[in-house]
Amino acid sequence: MSLKSEDPNYYAHQYNWMGQTEHDKKIRILDSTLREGEQHPGVSFTIKQRIQIAWMLDSFGVDQIEISPVVSPDHFQATKTIIKQDLRADILAHTRAIKSDIDIAIDCNATWIATYMGISDIHLSAKLRITREEAKIRALEVADYIKAHGMKARFTMEDASRTEPEFLIEMCKEMNKRGIERISIPDTVGIMRPRGMYNLVKMVHDNIDTTKTSIDVHCHNDVGLALANALAGCEAGADQIHTTIDGFGERTGIPSLAEAAVALTLIYKSNNNLRLHMLRDLSKTIAEYVDLPISESKPIVGDSAYKHKAGTHLAAILRNPAAYEIIEPRTVGNRRKIVFGELAGKNGAAYLLSLLGLKTGKEEAETLAYGLKELRMGDILELYLDDRLERKILNDAAVNLSPAKE
Ligand SMILES: [Zn+2]
Repeated sequence: MSLKSEDPNYYAHQYNWMGQTEHDKKIRILDSTLREGEQHPGVSFTIKQRIQIAWMLDSFGVDQIEISPVVSPDHFQATKTIIKQDLRADILAHTRAIKSDIDIAIDCNATWIATYMGISDIHLSAKLRITREEAKIRALEVADYIKAHGMKARFTMEDASRTEPEFLIEMCKEMNKRGIERISIPDTVGIMRPRGMYNLVKMVHDNIDTTKTSIDVHCHNDVGLALANALAGCEAGADQIHTTIDGFGERTGIPSLAEAAVALTLIYKSNNNLRLHMLRDLSKTIAEYVDLPISESKPIVGDSAYKHKAGTHLAAILRNPAAYEIIEPRTVGNRRKIVFGELAGKNGAAYLLSLLGLKTGKEEAETLAYGLKELRMGDILELYLDDRLERKILNDAAVNLSPAKE
């Protein structure tokens, strides 16, 4: 066996990095649970919950947290209080590109503003009912107003993916000229594919001075491509992804914090210093606050994310979990579970017998496996595979079956 097989993911990483020279780029995370997240049907937090979420996100290690002070007096209060906490993450007050909204952010003592304007033709005509020229004047006035108040800012070119490229570039260049710290390039309706997002961000990146202005990507998940698109945007020059806990947001939301965090750490090798073990708790906290269950099959934080069921999988997992897991469940605050039932097979049955302290010969295991199949009751037992149990199973000399051949 070659030494390379000591890292089961070795060849996968080889493919992932093929042709890429830049290996140590840090991709930052802005979490928008308190802004985009609250736009999800059924999601609304109390002031206290908003403050708690901000603390948890900060402790987890996100770079920026976004919240809108203009939505309601409660949001204003929450924004003001969170800003006062002096957290490590930047707190961005999210507003429309209107001076009166900026004034509300100023009243919260915001040092960072995130302001947005829909600049595609359909947004200009159906939403704002203004011309491109009027939009540009309004946006630049607001940018100047923010800068005159000495604040840092991000300008979101809403619906950028459907905006005429020349107009988009013109707007980005103007913001760049004014020293706006960040430009967000959103795929507001989730129409992009990764290659398209790459091309879009690359075009913006190549047309502005990125030593003055950095690029965010905000991708919607209408066809499930949000995270892939956001990551493609980062390969083209963006350096910050927008997420929410569990991916909540308008319609089907944006990338989930857990998926983005693990993708960045494990697959993109981005040095974010995130406390990944908090991920499951973050998700559970939100689920409790909004009374929306976490989907079982949700990557990283779902209950089934580390559940192993098929007999051949069980046998391999019990020998070496890396056979079917790319990251230890404990690393992300989740737990490994094994499921016994009609798919358990001879190996699964043997382990079940061993757990119960019964004889685990080949014949007994085959009889039980047959019995489980005949029961036709699907899964009959689920067990957390904690350290103690794992050791017991692995060390159990009585488990004496040949390697999995089912
Ligand atoms: Zn959005």
